[in-house]
Amino acid sequence: MFGFTATAQVEKAPPRTEGEGPWPQLIIRGVTLINGNGAPPTGPVDIVVENNKISRVQTVGYPGVPIKQESRPKLKPGGKELDAEGMFLLPGFVDVHGHIGGEAQGADAEYVFKLWMAHGITTVRDPSAGNGLDWVLDQKKKSATNSIVAPRIFAYTAFGQGSEGPISNPEQARSWVRENAKKGADGIKFFGAPPAIMEAALEENKKLGLRAAAHHAQMAVAKWNVLHSARAGLTSMEHWYGLPEALFTDRTVQDYPADYNYNNEQHRFSEAGKLWEQAAPPYSEKWNRVMNELLELDFTLSPTFNIYEASRDLMRARTAEWHKDYTLPSLWEFYQPSKISHGSYWHYWGTEEEIAWKRNYQLWMTFVNEYKNRGGRVTAGSDSGFIFQLYGFAFIRELELLREAGFHPMEVIMAATLNGAEALGVADQLGSVEVGKLADFVIVEENPLANLKVLYGTGAIKLTEDNEVVRVGGVKYTIKDGIIYDAKALLDDVKTMVEKRKQDTEFELKQPGVE
Ligand SMILES: [Zn+2]
Repeated sequence: MFGFTATAQVEKAPPRTEGEGPWPQLIIRGVTLINGNGAPPTGPVDIVVENNKISRVQTVGYPGVPIKQESRPKLKPGGKELDAEGMFLLPGFVDVHGHIGGEAQGADAEYVFKLWMAHGITTVRDPSAGNGLDWVLDQKKKSATNSIVAPRIFAYTAFGQGSEGPISNPEQARSWVRENAKKGADGIKFFGAPPAIMEAALEENKKLGLRAAAHHAQMAVAKWNVLHSARAGLTSMEHWYGLPEALFTDRTVQDYPADYNYNNEQHRFSEAGKLWEQAAPPYSEKWNRVMNELLELDFTLSPTFNIYEASRDLMRARTAEWHKDYTLPSLWEFYQPSKISHGSYWHYWGTEEEIAWKRNYQLWMTFVNEYKNRGGRVTAGSDSGFIFQLYGFAFIRELELLREAGFHPMEVIMAATLNGAEALGVADQLGSVEVGKLADFVIVEENPLANLKVLYGTGAIKLTEDNEVVRVGGVKYTIKDGIIYDAKALLDDVKTMVEKRKQDTEFELKQPGVE
């Protein structure tokens, strides 16, 4: 979400005790491969990994026909076989918008990392390095050597973070950008600034070969929207702010009521819910022109649909079944209506606000889906830790919302894997199952193309032939760098952490305003 603090009061992840491997050779046997490159499912396939790299992807038979053993890759001494016959294997997921916890949320790194890994997320971009760049880079390094359980981390520093005073001219902007690159950041996250500063910073950053993301906050959007950013070299936009503004035809600012106050979260979010209606309608001349220019600039959309979902259905977000076992007491408190906590905007959130947001979503989703149809890159990002959205779970919800926007399930998987890798500039190593790429996989027993809900840690509800209600799915194995993690064991760890925190604080999960 918004803003940053560099307080680093959040605990770093402890040394790794989970996960087996890597091995000189790992063979994953008999899977149906759902690749991230848009290819249809195919199987049975044996996948051979050497240390942390894919060395062979081999079809070993036909569906419904017993596999001929002699046709399969042979296990070398010291190697490991993983029998995954009948299971589905996908590339590791890339969450392009993953804040690694925060002090206000009381969410330590281990908690956040394990929730991500338990949902198959093997790569995250931390937009704005909320715990401080040094802190994030330290976790990044430990993740790279797998000395902690964590996804690969890409650290994007919030623009201006760590500078002594405000950045007030282009030269200061350029020198901050150079300094940021020198410190080892992978990119910058902008929240908006005066045009000359945005232009200088984006240009300098591009020159250095780094990438940038932006949340075009209302305070600076009137003079600098998504289109300005894209022209100046921004590589991806976060959320949606700044896009309706680029589509205005009969105004230059949003229709703010006279008593609007940006520091009032209810004002901010309820008025935002009327914003897409103020933009050029879908398929109109302006709408097409803006879209086509963004496409030409190879611009990436990172919509993070899920983080606004409480706006159109507060009860759904508030009462999600995973809160009971997996939401920390401090996080639960942070989510409650407040005049202070960011995103806790339901001072009085009712039917009118939800209906406006439903319409807002339709217009927004129409843009995103058409952008994809015209060849544009759309990624999956979660932005969890705000507005009742929980790490890991919310990423799966994001996939469902991309589906709702009109994406084919295969297009959803592509957004969650290869598109994310492309947006981060690492598609040569990540994002699809190909020889030479790194061994990051998600393995699940049920077919996620038929039902994305099987990727939720809490699984999907199913009635058996014998009229028995069961839970199916939940990621079974998350593999990162050739190391196999039992995804359900990671979730159990999280559950234990949450239980302990509840005991320590004598916490009882209550809905707001109920005695
Ligand atoms: Zn965010």
